[in-house]
Amino acid sequence: MRRCLVVGNWKMHGSVSAVTALVAALKNEISFDSHAEVAVCPPFVFISAVAAALADSGIAWGAQTLDEHEKGAFTGEISAAMLADLGCRYVIVGHSERRSLYAEDDSRVAAKFMAAQASGLIPILCVGENLQQREEGQALDIVQRQLTAVIAMAGIEAFNRAVVAYEPVWAIGTGKTATPEQAQQVHAHIRQVLSCADAAVAEQIQILYGGSVNAGNALELFASLDIDGALVGGASLKSDEFTAICKAGG
Ligand code: PEP
Repeated sequence: MRRCLVVGNWKMHGSVSAVTALVAALKNEISFDSHAEVAVCPPFVFISAVAAALADSGIAWGAQTLDEHEKGAFTGEISAAMLADLGCRYVIVGHSERRSLYAEDDSRVAAKFMAAQASGLIPILCVGENLQQREEGQALDIVQRQLTAVIAMAGIEAFNRAVVAYEPVWAIGTGKTATPEQAQQVHAHIRQVLSCADAAVAEQIQILYGGSVNAGNALELFASLDIDGALVGGASLKSDEFTAICKAGG
């Protein structure tokens, strides 16, 4: 039985005071056992503060990206070991904003996925098609390509310690959510692709949906067979909205 996982991606938002207030509210509202598994991914500079505040809570924390190298002359970058040192459980890899704005291709995403796991982090691998690709009927092919690039490099066993997030690019930050039927179709395909390599791995993996998830649509999305939670952007910055999403998955 897969537990629902709700992850907040705060992107490049916040300040010390805003983050402190948000985490305090979440701690108050989200109890240890009654809801979904919950994690938040703050900007790097706030991870220490969030870790200190959440240390005795049931809420995990993670990062939004990482560098694939172990260490060295990579000015401005952050390694997996550094994130592990801060107690991160998760790290998002292959978010569509990283793919499109920072030119991260499938092989770089796979390298980041492997680097995360080598330091004991759980990568949240994002896959998803853009609007043109959906309109041209390529959604399943694109997602399959992004997924198999990582399977080819990391091996199917690696997906025993990973999460996949289906995030149609056209639904991220746009207020347009995929219908539960659209999302379920792609989630089932992701599980099928994994299942072709190893059925047991496919059965246990949490596949999250991301793209304008909010308190009003979460319950309906979570009711779908292969939707095991959500990666939440905008709504994760509002404590009442994010808490309601977590409760929908509880
Ligand atoms: C995201 O950034 O991963 C995301 C899903 O954003 P939003 O919920 O704002 O669409």
